Amino acid sequence: MESDDRFSWKYGGWAGQVLWVDLARGKLVTKPLDEELALTYLGGTGFAARWLFDMVGPEVEPFSPENVFILATGVLTGTLFPQASRHVVAAKSPLTDIYGEAHAAGHFGPELKFAGFDAIVVTGRSEKPVYIYVEDGKAELRDASHLWGKTTYEAEDMIKEELGDRQVKVAVIGQAGENLVRFAGVFNDHGRAAARSGIGAVMGYKRLKAIAARGYGGLKIAKPDEYYDFMLELGRKMLAHPFTPDRVKYGTNSLVELMQAIGRLPTYNHREGVFDEWEEICGERITREYLVKPKADFACYQRCGRFVRIPAGKYVMIGKGPEYEGLDALGANVGNSDLEALIYANHLCNLYGMDVISAGGVIAWAMECWEHGLLTKEDTGGLEFDWGDPELIVQLIEMIAFRKGFGDLLAEGVYRAAQKIGRGTEKYAMHVKKMEIAAQDGRAQKSMGLAHVTSNRGADHLYAFPVLDEVGFEKEIAERFGEQYLPEMTDRLNPKYKGIMVAELEDFCAVVEAVGVCKYGTVIPPVFFYPDLARALTLTTGKEYTEADLRLIGRRIVTLQRLFNVREGITRKDDTLPERFTKEPMPRGPAKGQVVELDIMLDEYYSYRKWDLETGIPKKETLRELGLEREVEELERRGITIPP
Ligand code: SF4
Repeated sequence: MESDDRFSWKYGGWAGQVLWVDLARGKLVTKPLDEELALTYLGGTGFAARWLFDMVGPEVEPFSPENVFILATGVLTGTLFPQASRHVVAAKSPLTDIYGEAHAAGHFGPELKFAGFDAIVVTGRSEKPVYIYVEDGKAELRDASHLWGKTTYEAEDMIKEELGDRQVKVAVIGQAGENLVRFAGVFNDHGRAAARSGIGAVMGYKRLKAIAARGYGGLKIAKPDEYYDFMLELGRKMLAHPFTPDRVKYGTNSLVELMQAIGRLPTYNHREGVFDEWEEICGERITREYLVKPKADFACYQRCGRFVRIPAGKYVMIGKGPEYEGLDALGANVGNSDLEALIYANHLCNLYGMDVISAGGVIAWAMECWEHGLLTKEDTGGLEFDWGDPELIVQLIEMIAFRKGFGDLLAEGVYRAAQKIGRGTEKYAMHVKKMEIAAQDGRAQKSMGLAHVTSNRGADHLYAFPVLDEVGFEKEIAERFGEQYLPEMTDRLNPKYKGIMVAELEDFCAVVEAVGVCKYGTVIPPVFFYPDLARALTLTTGKEYTEADLRLIGRRIVTLQRLFNVREGITRKDDTLPERFTKEPMPRGPAKGQVVELDIMLDEYYSYRKWDLETGIPKKETLRELGLEREVEELERRGITIPP
């Protein structure tokens, strides 16, 4: 490894170094973290946005050596801020062909910081499988030929064994990533998943099986005494919140009951919003019958991770259990109420390393197409489909991961699969910008409908994560957005002010993912907000941050990601939902008769952001406010008109 040698970084929080890896030449170089980048983008999603915009233009194919793989921690990752456990992986997405990014909690991000690195940037493609090992400021490439073909769990264990240290932390791909399944993810800590956007397939293309990290160093804290007192105060606040005991007991799985109650539990490929057999797949049953223990990530007070076991029968397993998204994707949305098959299919997604939301989405599409006679045995290689067939679901997960038979088509994601088959199957492909829609139905909660559309990584509930109107957090909505928006903003079925809510929450979530803390505790339950993050940053880094600074940084990150997509040809015409949500009224349940009033909300969203109403492109005036003048030149040089 070439190194600029360890140097002293003047701020706390950041490790102060970035590892640059060229896989084609087998070269690793450590460089100081750029100070301006750190102060203006913070880390995580901020670094990813900056580097991808600068390094990956429209001429770069997702599956090409020129695509760049980024793994970045946040400035607070590894500190004592509650739930400061996160890292981001990013690349141009092979699923959506636009800005791609995914996030995971666990212990990997903090360990990378303790090993002396804020981020790793990987270019080129290796001739043979390799993995990167970083330890205390040093880095090396190691052969991974013996790990190729192994599951995420197996490869993680083998790396720990060969390094002789169980405390090594590993981010790894499974067979799905190796086989270029377009929705393969990057997994760590046995089942923590940075699953969306297919970043695992980019690692697979590069023949990068894993990154392992071990660090014995700490993090510099600028004002340790005040920092420590403040972190204790935040921890006490988190523990005292009424949501915390439930989160420990049920994880996110209690959402099945809540979503059923408000008619927002996607069922039968998003056709309906209630599932008659929801009690078979609910969180209470998982806790009662299968939970071994709740699992915490680094610095976590909420322990939403589920460690579960099926001791006997057809689906014996032990490992990370499903979360709410998995329960819907492989349960209600494919009509499946066989909980053991569901847990097992979810477990296979973790082992093979693929996104459970997209996997469930392509299976749901195939089931509905079969029901309408649009798919036949000739298409499926002899398979017959029926809603909720547990054995078929498990079989299809295997077939997708290994691209066997009909699984090869499904591994392309629902957009490409429907395009290839044609014959009207496109109508049943539930995606936004080629990304499968998660377990949220915008007809039952209008803000979610908009959030899926405006997210810069394609359909995504987490990009803005608008949950405050789910069951009416009136006090928090008044505090966070202003009383002038009440009561409409609190009403989940009213489209009014949802454009403002989604824009504000996108900015806030960008800050949350840039500093490296979990959305549980910041977004839901809504405990910590900008002032807490600003104070934590000031005490940690030694650089004064205000709420206004952070709001600007959030806007800048979201806007830069939008500009990446605008450069790829994305405009308002792409900010849309399948007609199911805008034209088919919800057939039954509490949201019966509702559709998503998308245009009204989009107009409000663009106006609030000061983007052009017709094209959805940020205006020059807006970009100037955010310090993004250089990007205007770059887009205009490529013939894109930026409205004044
Ligand atoms: S709340 Fe859940 S996802 Fe967030 S840090 Fe804790 S265990 Fe991890």
